[in-house]
Amino acid sequence: MKGCPVLSQLIWCVVLLLALLPISASARQEKKTAPQVIVKGRVACLDESGQRLNADQDDSPTSSVYELLTAAGQRFHFSSEDLLLPIFTEARVRQMELQITALLHEKSVLELEKVQAVKDGRLYDIYYFCRVCNITAYAPGPCPCCYARLEFMETPAP
Ligand SMILES: [Zn+2]
Repeated sequence: MKGCPVLSQLIWCVVLLLALLPISASARQEKKTAPQVIVKGRVACLDESGQRLNADQDDSPTSSVYELLTAAGQRFHFSSEDLLLPIFTEARVRQMELQITALLHEKSVLELEKVQAVKDGRLYDIYYFCRVCNITAYAPGPCPCCYARLEFMETPAP
């Protein structure tokens, strides 16, 4: 007597599923291995030779490479594709003591999650804002909606 083909197929499926499950679970974990860190320090723009420019100097338009230097002397870098990176464009942000929440990747590269300013021990959210359109942005420049100049905002962090 032959075994029921449907039943044997079902068993096959279960076996396959069990074999695949641990792989997909570990693959999902691997994506999350970058630990979240909170670091304080000052960000500077680097020139072509990797030297930190003064905070009041404008970025060289050809290279916007930034580096975070902590009070303890640790240095961190950022991916050039980081969507929050334009927050460092203006000198006023680079003159502030910053608290950065980020995911730490290998070679001390930070993936920005939040950039805040520290003033007199208090934490401030910093961003650009258009009052007319109620639009928040991380980069200075014209409002994408009404083209008015975005306003730099510092609000006490909740
Ligand atoms: Zn606007």
